[in-house]
Amino acid sequence: MRAAVITGPGEVEVTTVDDPVPGPREVVVAVSGCGICGTDLHILDGEFAPALPIVPGHEFAGEVVAVGSEVGSGDPAGGSGSGGRRGLRPAVGDQVAVDPSLPCGDCHYCRRGRFTFCERWNAVGVSVAGAAAEYVAVPAANCVRLPEGIRTADAALVEPLSCAVRGYDVLRSSLAEHYLVYGAGTMGLIMTALAMRAGAVSVDVVDVNPARLEAARVLGCTGAVTDAAQLDRPRGWDAVIDCTGVVEAIEDGITRVGKGGTFLQFGVAGEGATARFSPHRVYSHEITIVGSLAVLHSFDRAAELFVAGVVDPDLLISDRLPLAEYPAAVQRVRAGVGRKVQVIP
Ligand SMILES: [Zn+2]
Ligand SMILES: [Zn+2]
Repeated sequence: MRAAVITGPGEVEVTTVDDPVPGPREVVVAVSGCGICGTDLHILDGEFAPALPIVPGHEFAGEVVAVGSEVGSGDPAGGSGSGGRRGLRPAVGDQVAVDPSLPCGDCHYCRRGRFTFCERWNAVGVSVAGAAAEYVAVPAANCVRLPEGIRTADAALVEPLSCAVRGYDVLRSSLAEHYLVYGAGTMGLIMTALAMRAGAVSVDVVDVNPARLEAARVLGCTGAVTDAAQLDRPRGWDAVIDCTGVVEAIEDGITRVGKGGTFLQFGVAGEGATARFSPHRVYSHEITIVGSLAVLHSFDRAAELFVAGVVDPDLLISDRLPLAEYPAAVQRVRAGVGRKVQVIP
């Protein structure tokens, strides 16, 4: 099959590799669409060097084309079609979105349900062969079956949406709040759409690039500005969400949190980055600062939200490129142009 392969830091090529074969409890998915995000850039930059060479791609959906010997055989992974993930038993021909997480299930954190902290952490497209390829092998239990009427490639958005749902779990938002979102890229737009769905009174969006604000306006946000100082909210915002990872935005965002409000660090800052804030303000205004890493107990809910049409794929996906153009697709993501970039094998 054809696949994008990261062979070394900064080096990616589309080449021919062996077709995957499903393990006993795995299925092989023919990839319909695979999104690219900042994590893929980190892998390409060699920041997960022990995993190279690797086929990237952890945001994907497709059609099941082969199943392992134990899938659907009545073992616990098969179930009886009760509707939960274990009852799905994906069969050949099913359209599925796939949770890329591969926690060990047995370490200190996994035993406490904190799978993102797994001490033997693995993920499809990060440490094992991913979906920037015609086919990918994944655990049957990681598949969520999609109903009829969904354009399967678009369901690659379920993975980033599941990270946003986890962010809202951490945020513990309630009705009738005022939101301020930093960053009008894919994640900022998803956060904005979810805030509106979560019963926000207002959702303002900040992005230093005015061209990126247009999509936020299309979503129906309240204010869309290049500097939060342009917005008139003297008491600040109940929830401020950083989707940029940029220190200047983070520092500004923390100053915008109102009394009793919450700041969510959702964007990925560099490991060495530091940001300044006023501890006196955090104390006297009882400000909560929280972080959210990735999908955790949120993939199935994200799939349901996606099927319900909470996010608009045609607004979020700006580029659908053939797999052969994977290197160019990565460059588009790195340049920060457009929104979600997908490759279509
Ligand atoms: Zn991603
Ligand atoms: Zn573990």
